[in-house]
Amino acid sequence: MAAAHTLRLILGDQLNPRHSWFRKTDDRVIYVLMEVRQETDYVLHHVQKILAFFAAMRAFAQWLQKKGHRVAYLHLDDPDNQQDFASNLKRLIRRHKIKRFEYQRPDEYRLDRQLEVIAAGLFTETGAFDSEHFLTGRDDVKKMFAGKKRYLMERFYREMRKQHDILVENDKPVGGKWNYDTSNRQRYDGKVPIPEPKRFKNDVGAIFKTLTAMKVRHFGRTTGNTLLWPVTRRQSLAQLKHFLEHSLPHFGTYQDAMTVEGWSLFHSRISFALNVKILDPLEVIKAAVSRWEDDQEHITIAQVEGFVRQILGWREYMRGVYWALMPKFQDMNFFGHDAQLPGWYWTGETRMHCMARAIGQSLDYAYAHHIQRLMVTGNFALLAGVDPDQIDAWYLGVYVDAIQWVEMPNTRGMSQFAEGGLIATKPYVSSANYIHKMSDYCRECHYDRKRRHGDRACPFNSLYWHFLDRHRRLLGKNPRMGNMYRVLERMDAGEREKILAQGDAYLKNCEDL
Ligand SMILES: Cc1cc2nc3c(=O)[nH]c(=O)nc-3n(C[C@H](O)[C@H](O)[C@H](O)COP(=O)(O)OP(=O)(O)OC[C@H]3O[C@@H](n4cnc5c(N)ncnc54)[C@H](O)[C@@H]3O)c2cc1C
Ligand code: SF4
Repeated sequence: MAAAHTLRLILGDQLNPRHSWFRKTDDRVIYVLMEVRQETDYVLHHVQKILAFFAAMRAFAQWLQKKGHRVAYLHLDDPDNQQDFASNLKRLIRRHKIKRFEYQRPDEYRLDRQLEVIAAGLFTETGAFDSEHFLTGRDDVKKMFAGKKRYLMERFYREMRKQHDILVENDKPVGGKWNYDTSNRQRYDGKVPIPEPKRFKNDVGAIFKTLTAMKVRHFGRTTGNTLLWPVTRRQSLAQLKHFLEHSLPHFGTYQDAMTVEGWSLFHSRISFALNVKILDPLEVIKAAVSRWEDDQEHITIAQVEGFVRQILGWREYMRGVYWALMPKFQDMNFFGHDAQLPGWYWTGETRMHCMARAIGQSLDYAYAHHIQRLMVTGNFALLAGVDPDQIDAWYLGVYVDAIQWVEMPNTRGMSQFAEGGLIATKPYVSSANYIHKMSDYCRECHYDRKRRHGDRACPFNSLYWHFLDRHRRLLGKNPRMGNMYRVLERMDAGEREKILAQGDAYLKNCEDL
């Protein structure tokens, strides 16, 4: 075997089998993948998140080896493992007399800076490469909205549709409308059975044993020694196929619905496979469009457009927002919120049925769908004035798909309005009305969704008005909030006082809700 010359680092979320690096084999190149404490410990993770990352990395390393590439894989418990990127790289340089270091630019600010420092300090010859995954460059969103107060997702999305020729004919949207969001707001009515979520049975017993032996802290539940998330290319494609066959025909219609009858409804659950780059966003979009083209009898344009919008629109847009705002983003706190995250976010033990459901399934599966994240757990945290640092840490830890570039703009940005309205024109807050409209959670709740104060009054109601009242200075002039402030003004003074007192009481006793 030739002496190695180049070391190429592959991070845990860079498992892109189509990357040009892997087109030909070269004995002088060693690919390195590392399981390190630096990454298991930077935030408290759900156990399924750690298992999924390590299982996917191991499968990817095996695939590379099978293809004839040279691979150095550091397991978490390898005696040589120094548990951080810099020290492990130093050792590998010495051992293999490496002359050149190459890496794919990380999507997370923290790692991006770290690798820049490592490359500059340890190597004379270096190369930073694109991960060849996203459809946009890091700075494209920033450039598109230079000088603007708001970054309008819809404008970005239309540009993307045209640029990539997706559901577009002669520069016009297929079907006549760019966006079918208004058709995507139905409650689940039981008319269509919810497909059984596809679950894999990846054996992760050995990884779990290592985590335990090495005392890696984690939370959430496992399903024995198996992992249900797809961790290989083959599994990820099967997950996508399952979605296209069973869920795409109803994806848009029930996109915002929540029900006790299913934890993922008609959602695709491909976010992990996409975020670790096993799946390519354009291939997913094209597969959905092609499925719609072949079966327009069962799949309407509203369904496929709704799905395309999430990936071509929201996903790329959020990444652009992240890079436009970092590193200041991680300290933004528009409302100055500083309350503690209630302890039951970690256990699901609350009498609020909607919260117990959304948190409970997050602990079971490391997954909740978008509206549960936004309008249940995120909504409550915002109404309760929780410190965005703590909310970010929770979301970053709990979801299998959570990587900071997509977690932070969704959590701190969209859900907590901490950047002050660059993404959304108004905060995503609601009383019990919205949760009742979009779910069947209120039916079995300890609290009464209709009551705003008094015995068993739903906390979302008084906290909603309390939030508006205490943030009048910041939100009072927002034209999209005008109606709600007028309702608050016109409310009977005695009633208003009781609601606000109820809100005060709930805020003081958040732990007991
Ligand atoms: C507070 C909060 C935190 C979130 N944190 C994350 C996160 O850490 N990682 C993550 O991937 N998504 C996050 N999202 C976005 C969204 O909730 C998830 O992408 C989605 O629930 C993943 O499930 P799915 O694959 O079944 O998605 P589907 O509903 O089937 O959607 C298809 C795909 O579209 C993309 N997508 C949909 N909505 C968004 C969005 N708002 N931003 C970016 N991509 C989107 C995802 O890649 C998703 O896989 C968050 C949303 C909120 C409100
Ligand atoms: S009544 Fe309130 S707390 Fe209970 S499920 Fe409905 S919105 Fe949630």
